[in-house]
Amino acid sequence: MVDNEAFTYNGGKVEPGETQNIRYGISETYLGDPVRIPVTIINGERPGPTVFLSAAAHGDELNGIEVVREVAYEWDLSDLAGTLVCMPVVNVPAFIAQQRYLPIYDRDLNRSFPGSETSTGAKRMAYRIYQNFIAPCDLGIDFHTSTRGRTNMLHVRADMSDPDVARLANAFGSHVIIDSSGSDGMLRTEAAARGTPAITVEMGEAHRFQRELIDEALAGVESVFAEYGLRETSTVNWPGWRTVISDENEKTWLRADAGGIVDMHHDRGALVHEGDRICTITNPFKDDNVTVEAPFTGLLVGVLENPVVYPGNPLCHLVELKDDVRRVVEREQSAASEMSL
Ligand SMILES: [Zn+2]
Repeated sequence: MVDNEAFTYNGGKVEPGETQNIRYGISETYLGDPVRIPVTIINGERPGPTVFLSAAAHGDELNGIEVVREVAYEWDLSDLAGTLVCMPVVNVPAFIAQQRYLPIYDRDLNRSFPGSETSTGAKRMAYRIYQNFIAPCDLGIDFHTSTRGRTNMLHVRADMSDPDVARLANAFGSHVIIDSSGSDGMLRTEAAARGTPAITVEMGEAHRFQRELIDEALAGVESVFAEYGLRETSTVNWPGWRTVISDENEKTWLRADAGGIVDMHHDRGALVHEGDRICTITNPFKDDNVTVEAPFTGLLVGVLENPVVYPGNPLCHLVELKDDVRRVVEREQSAASEMSL
């Protein structure tokens, strides 16, 4: 059997069968001290694809950190075929500040890829991360959560028009895939454009560790590893039903038309029917409650968590389901609610 190759980055090399935990310098603080990100590189003895797993490109999005940590430290990877590049906290300055953006002019690191050696601070950081740890990979998964104050059901975002990206997105085995090419500078978009198929996994809420979502994401990683042959023991997941949301599907962010406090009547992931009451906006000084109804039958992919709103603030992300998928979801959700009675 052919041996796996060494993984090299600027300043180091990880031999087949070797694991390295490194802190890689990507910038300097005002004191001139290094800004370093944790990277665990696990190089299997057997050949296979090189895969990156990254989280906390937005510093307050914590769920993915635990996903990447468990894969790197708790999984038995002694039979690994290929190489894992695990970056649990990509945006260390924002993680330390517990905010979404880099605390340097509030730059969005996830709009700064693939970066540049001579541009802004954010792009220089992105460049060092990208060149050393993303560009050498054959595929990768970038974990995110909803923006602070909102939550979403676990779903994949991927450019399904790219067959290599679509293979990865399907292999993750989530119920919902949102088909979008993403924005300029986004890690998954820029990686895919340069030959490293990548997807974003969105899960839950910023500032939280949500165990059921973390476990769901770990199952997704295991399924991807099975699809690409990284571990012999795993199998590819079929989630029971799947919907790919594209521009043809009706989807909307419902927005508040009144200021107040939102009483949300459904959790993320719930199916609501046209005309169902989704939430009520109350106001502590008036008795004219505003009821918000579903404009069409669909799935609540994301909902508000912090209940205070101005008019115009988003309340929930509702997406239409095709009839056959909707029937499966209806059966599943009514079975679940009977079990909880
Ligand atoms: Zn994010």
